Amino acid sequence: MTKQFDSLWLPYAQMKTVVPPYRVVRAEGVKLYFDDGTALIDGISSWWCVIHGYNHPVLNKAVQEQLAKFAHVMLGGLVNDAAIKLAETLVRITPFGLNHVFFGDSGSVGVEIALKMAIQFWRNQGFPQKSRFVALRRGYHGDTTGAMSVSDDDEGMHRLFKGAILPQYFVDAPGGPNIESDESQASLGQLEELLRANNSQIAAVILEPIFQGAGGFRFYPPEYLFCARRLCDEHKVLLIFDEVATGFGRTGALFAADLANVTPDIMVLSKALTGGYFGLSATIATSQVYESFLGDDPELAFMHGPTFMGNAVACAVALASISLIETENYLSKIKAIEKVLIEEFHGLDGPSLCDARVLGAIGVLEFESPSNLMGFREFGRDRGVWLRPYGKWLYTMPPYIIDEDDLRLVTAVMKEWLLYQ
Ligand code: PLP
Repeated sequence: MTKQFDSLWLPYAQMKTVVPPYRVVRAEGVKLYFDDGTALIDGISSWWCVIHGYNHPVLNKAVQEQLAKFAHVMLGGLVNDAAIKLAETLVRITPFGLNHVFFGDSGSVGVEIALKMAIQFWRNQGFPQKSRFVALRRGYHGDTTGAMSVSDDDEGMHRLFKGAILPQYFVDAPGGPNIESDESQASLGQLEELLRANNSQIAAVILEPIFQGAGGFRFYPPEYLFCARRLCDEHKVLLIFDEVATGFGRTGALFAADLANVTPDIMVLSKALTGGYFGLSATIATSQVYESFLGDDPELAFMHGPTFMGNAVACAVALASISLIETENYLSKIKAIEKVLIEEFHGLDGPSLCDARVLGAIGVLEFESPSNLMGFREFGRDRGVWLRPYGKWLYTMPPYIIDEDDLRLVTAVMKEWLLYQ
């Protein structure tokens, strides 16, 4: 590693041998500009959050207007208008029945909050033993200790932390073209069995609805959510949707939950919440969950409060981001991206390609092994595109504002790689 990065410790990287990262000096629209004067199209929206592209005038204005008043005040004993308005807006746009918003500062923290909320929901009603979780195999919920313990990432970045803190159960991930598929049926069967046998210990089922991200970039049928909802109700277990990656349009609906018309008890949002400007999460609960924290006993109150929760600048830019989504017909932009991705990936073949799949603004090429993607970074750079394969997956999740030419360049580079290796 070159001397210039000695002080900066990079994520998921062996610092001794890491290939030096590209140094961004400016970003505009879908493009990243580097210190050597070159530019690349960002095909992955900076880990899927920069949905409006970079340096957006509407978002910049929202930041500046809030900064002119103040950047931050604590949410303990004080509130700010942006946080109040954002909570109201999230209640309006998320699935019907989600009514109370608890802010955090990252996706992982949003998940931690959801897990703690579920445990305390049952404790407050006299069921302290209901403190375990059920999660899907190949799920990913973040890198903090609780989030890791409900993730299934034995092969990947969490393997050193196997058996982390919260006791949990796993069921196989659903999959296949519809709910009748063997994978989905097997998963539901396992879920039913687990809930029947252990519901006295289980606080909640947590899952990424419809799209499992970092654990495998895979889709599963929306009907699964409906069946999971029914099983959770039947066995008195809460249902948590982690929409950190899927929230705000990525799968083609504003929230993946909308594709199945299902309301979870708790939903977690982050990433695209601020259009990729600042870290912010929202953990949103139904009235039933919220009301279990009300009462005269101080012990009933929810014991959580990150310093930066409800940061006024982050909330102001989140409001501006949501208003762009609503006023600029983003869902039709996402449909247009989906159409191009389907066209481009149709009938793809290659010696080490296992699958090509598309949903909403997500296009995935799955290879046999991570070694099939070694050297892709420079290959993409030489052709004007920034994509960062993860494991054996080469994927694009572009900003929604990407135009057709830029999107076709991204997919052309992905397809060329099939011939190249
Ligand atoms: N949940 C899901 C589904 C995610 O995809 C991620 C991040 O990729 C997280 C949680 C964690 O979010 P963060 O990286 O903001 O902590």
